[in-house]
Amino acid sequence: MVTYHRRFLCWWGLLLFGLGLGSRRSADNDLRDLECAILHNLNRLAHTDQSTLPVTKTLDHFIGHVGSAAFAQLLHQHTQRLIRMKALDDFRFQGDFIAAVDGTGYLSFRHHHCCQCLTQKQPSGTICYLHPVLEAKLLTSSGLALSLASQFIENPPGRTPTDYQEKKQDCELNAFDRLAATLKSSFPQLRLCLSLDSLYGCGRAFALCRKYHWHFVVTFKEGRTPELWREFVALLKMCPDQKRVATLPDKTRRVYRWVEQLPYIDSQKRSWTLGAIVCEETSARGQKTTFAWLTNLAVNRDSVIAIAEQVGRLRQKIENEGFNVQKNSGLNLEHVFSQNWDHAKAYYYLLQLGHLLMQLLHHNSLHRALAKEYGHNSVLALWGALKKIPQRLLEALRYYLLAEADFDSPAAARCHIGLNSS
Ligand SMILES: [Zn+2]
Repeated sequence: MVTYHRRFLCWWGLLLFGLGLGSRRSADNDLRDLECAILHNLNRLAHTDQSTLPVTKTLDHFIGHVGSAAFAQLLHQHTQRLIRMKALDDFRFQGDFIAAVDGTGYLSFRHHHCCQCLTQKQPSGTICYLHPVLEAKLLTSSGLALSLASQFIENPPGRTPTDYQEKKQDCELNAFDRLAATLKSSFPQLRLCLSLDSLYGCGRAFALCRKYHWHFVVTFKEGRTPELWREFVALLKMCPDQKRVATLPDKTRRVYRWVEQLPYIDSQKRSWTLGAIVCEETSARGQKTTFAWLTNLAVNRDSVIAIAEQVGRLRQKIENEGFNVQKNSGLNLEHVFSQNWDHAKAYYYLLQLGHLLMQLLHHNSLHRALAKEYGHNSVLALWGALKKIPQRLLEALRYYLLAEADFDSPAAARCHIGLNSS
């Protein structure tokens, strides 16, 4: 019988995602030895002395023992380390880190999967069994999207299939209550500005931000709070001077107007005073689009464009840099790595860790310097496509023997690696 050290298995799990292998079968094939250097290199990385490689079944067994919460903790330690070493401080906005909150689909089944699935009736009448997740991701202007906290949108344990018709299901706003509490307890001192979609343009979300001392910039949609929108439009007419215009290099014209103090009484009769911004964008071809946001940040002539562009619009990145990459790359977010729901949660956290590793590999000054040495002005240009980076890394781990000198921490301490590309 072989006993594996947990560090060794964690590294193995991390490589499953960090190398973008996409499935357990790929991991079992690509992380095989066959006279390659994988075992040697894994031992180096994990500081272990194993004599054989595991298979994903071994990893799954290990996950069953430690549970998904341990992997959530491991992920938290990584992001906290980056924050504490001030690696991300260049990306603060008015002193805050920007965190986008967004929900996405994780697993979906055509059959009853477990007692905690959400159910959704399709137009065809068939029922889908879903496991969506709500994420808070720290976003940077350079394109990083790092998971700060995750909350699975799920029904309480112990439901039977017949309960689905009668009992109310969990939803994104309920999950946000739990996500916010987790985020606050994981990062109690962290200054945050949440970038939110219009679902959160309500007293319930504002109250949580007030309770936890966070700023917020939320998409303002007429349909979400029609009365407030009418009030906003009426107040805008009274301050025609509150206007700024910006023209982008591609001739897109943006006209910003704002109201500094927009009063709002929510459904629970709580009263709020919000800043409100509208941006009317006209493209070079004459196409018009309107964007609007509500915020508890101070909106004025100096801050209006920065709030709209650096926080409000940055939220689109969570889709582009965050979930889309996780779904459409080797990370394979919607792949069922385990039928067991708690194991699947552990794989979710490992995926976030793998993505973190990939992002740090991509966005750093050493990598940019390497590209420059080869006559390219970006990391992307050096490799041809982003997905090539994990592929080359896999090749390196298979054919290059990591040496003791590669782990020389005093030498590494003298080398400054920056994440800011601007
Ligand atoms: Zn389920």
